[in-house]
Amino acid sequence: AKRSGRARSVVYANALGAASRRMHTVEQALREGLGQGQFELHFQPKVDARTLLPLGVEALMRWEHPQLGSISPGEFIPAAERCGLIHELGALALQQACLAVRQLPGLSVAVNVSPLQLMEPGFVASVEHVLVQTSVAPSLLHLEVTESLMLEDAQSALKRLHALRELGLQVALDDFGTGFSSLAYLRAFPFHTLKIDRSFVRSLTEHADARAIVNTIVQMAGVLGMRTVAEGVETDRELAVIRAIRCDEVQGYLVARPMPLGKLQDWLAGRPI
Ligand code: C2E
Ligand code: CA
Ligand code: CA
Ligand code: CA
Repeated sequence: AKRSGRARSVVYANALGAASRRMHTVEQALREGLGQGQFELHFQPKVDARTLLPLGVEALMRWEHPQLGSISPGEFIPAAERCGLIHELGALALQQACLAVRQLPGLSVAVNVSPLQLMEPGFVASVEHVLVQTSVAPSLLHLEVTESLMLEDAQSALKRLHALRELGLQVALDDFGTGFSSLAYLRAFPFHTLKIDRSFVRSLTEHADARAIVNTIVQMAGVLGMRTVAEGVETDRELAVIRAIRCDEVQGYLVARPMPLGKLQDWLAGRPI
């Protein structure tokens, strides 16, 4: 038993070693990749739940490394946050998103923003700068933030969000239902939209209680004057339930996967108006 215990701890130590080597490799590669233009936004449509007409897109960063292959945002975003490159990566996302707005008449583009980025003192000014530089109407640039933002420094976060709203941007609360946001926060923070996490959407068709919760979320959002988006909708059954509880917008593989700008333009052109 002793021996197998030691063997197990060796395996464990090796796995840890491999994980930390990978982390180091990714952080190094990030620095280089940013310099070499390896990052590109893809776009996933958000559609009206009733009519299925496109209303906007969410911008999702993609990274294709020449040796390491494609690395998921689930891996490189936390890495960029750890090594401080999230600001540069975030600025790139905002820049590319604004350029995309100009290619997508009538559609908004929503960019994910890390709490670290939003809490940086120059953030609001940098957003204003990129809007002016690309001559994009602020109302067409949306930002998506997660609940973790409000837990860190609620007062400063609130100030930032108000400043962004003053500029004319819309801010969505992402992954709603996975964190700890209280009703008090929801009332206090100027969110335009609530994005209901796909874990809820997934359980909608299986569990009556999940359905009751999401139904309540949608009604509450309505009372607070917020729009709702159901994330990660994959099946017709999920769509049917989402419609029944009167969620405003739908996003997910059922409608379309994230795709490069050119593909998105083809997709939009191929749809009846
Ligand atoms: P998120 O903001 O919650 O984005 C939605 C994720 O769900 C995306 O994963 C998208 O590809 C995926 N998705 C969309 N529809 C479906 C569906 O029907 N089924 C399933 N299973 N998945 C679906 P992705 O692109 O891998 O991004 C993961 C996360 O990485 C994002 O979650 C976001 O938190 C972060 N992220 C991505 N791009 C950026 C960025 O430019 N900046 C920052 N700060 N974070 C980003
Ligand atoms: Ca998002
Ligand atoms: Ca989300
Ligand atoms: Ca997420």
